[in-house]
Amino acid sequence: MTDTLIRGGTLVTADGRRRADLLCREGLIAAVGTELAHSSDAEVIDAGDCFVLPGGIDPHTHLQLPMMGTVVADDFYSGTTAAASGGTTTILDFVGPVRGQSPLEALATWRSWADKAVIDYGFHMTVAWWGPRFSEEMASLVRDHGITSFKFFLAYKGGLMLPDEDLIAGFLRCRELGALPQVHAENGELIAYLQAKMLAEGVTSPLGHVLSRPPQCEGEATGRAIAMAEIVDVPLYVVHVSAAPAARAIADARSRGVKVIGETLPGFLAIDDSVYRNADFDFAAGHVMSPPYRPREHQAVLWQAVQDGTLSTTGTDHCCFTRAQKRLGQRDFTRIPNGCGGIEDRLHVLWHLGVNSGRISPERFVALTSTNAARNFNLWPRKGCLEVGADADVIVLDPARTKTLSAATQRQNTDFSVWEGMQVKGVVVHTFSRGAHVWADGELRAEAGRGRYLPRQPFGDPYQARV
Ligand SMILES: [Zn+2]
Repeated sequence: MTDTLIRGGTLVTADGRRRADLLCREGLIAAVGTELAHSSDAEVIDAGDCFVLPGGIDPHTHLQLPMMGTVVADDFYSGTTAAASGGTTTILDFVGPVRGQSPLEALATWRSWADKAVIDYGFHMTVAWWGPRFSEEMASLVRDHGITSFKFFLAYKGGLMLPDEDLIAGFLRCRELGALPQVHAENGELIAYLQAKMLAEGVTSPLGHVLSRPPQCEGEATGRAIAMAEIVDVPLYVVHVSAAPAARAIADARSRGVKVIGETLPGFLAIDDSVYRNADFDFAAGHVMSPPYRPREHQAVLWQAVQDGTLSTTGTDHCCFTRAQKRLGQRDFTRIPNGCGGIEDRLHVLWHLGVNSGRISPERFVALTSTNAARNFNLWPRKGCLEVGADADVIVLDPARTKTLSAATQRQNTDFSVWEGMQVKGVVVHTFSRGAHVWADGELRAEAGRGRYLPRQPFGDPYQARV
């Protein structure tokens, strides 16, 4: 692999910025500075008017996932090419065993599916059921396979939802193994009650989806999960925080010294629940995900939480379906496959809405899109930083360039975009993944299968200090 010299850009990390050149050699960042020696055949990128940032880490994706009678539209090839074109160089996806299935066996399936990824990837494990066998296999997942985060569901009654007794046992097991529990925090009992009530009242449209998942359900479950983690004394990672009561529960806990990490998604900062009132089924159903988009007033609370560090990572929960797939729920909103796309757009949307508006600095943008996820999931300093010796996962972002987001031009394998027609300013023009120039100003150069699996270490005391 030839050297790459990224010359003259403004390097931004979570800690600060400086003007410097950056040299990639053999997949790693080899030097940062000026007048860097490089081979005569080096590829030179002029980044004079651009920002040079660590590649994005999306800690929450679902590629190729079978769910709700179908399979999500993006597999590990299309999904990771879309990610690379938007400046994301690492994803953490979720392995989803079916009820009763060995999580080790499910991991083997996901590993084989992910063989075609074009960027690096790791896995969280969904705790899809609970019992002695699951608990036993967790030890091997952590020690032999580098799976060090486990997601528990407080929602989806009759499916993934676990009772409190099992959540407590699972959190204890995570603590024992040095793993990080994650939660999907919505109250599944209340949602089941409200779904039945909506259907009984004849509400079958996508509007029923948001009416059956009010913000209180998320607030209550977030508070309950935090209480369990606090008493068990294990850190907790709350995925896709969408609602003000959930953000407040996290802020309260953190102010008391409880180790809770909050993740949000760009969509929750900008899209409101009016989308579910749209008469066009495809449009409304295209926005069906859990938790749902919230009334507009929640957005100010979430932005505040992003600014003050209550919410410190951003993912996408990328789980995209086509219009045709969403029509599985045309007569019953509870059958609409849950999920939206976004793996391609996260950095562009967050830069546009966050940095351009002055809500967050470029440094905070790096923390939110890359560095904090690397730290929380034990990928740092290999990922999420621009230090010599780190993987050369580097992006060049042109702050003056504009782009219109649209299903017609996206690389995500679907015919719908929640960002349809949005013009963003600030565009990723180059993406390097371990030094390989996978996205070159509109041209995708990545080969299927070049991405590598990222096993992760369990956490010890230094981790506890970082949360
Ligand atoms: Zn998810």
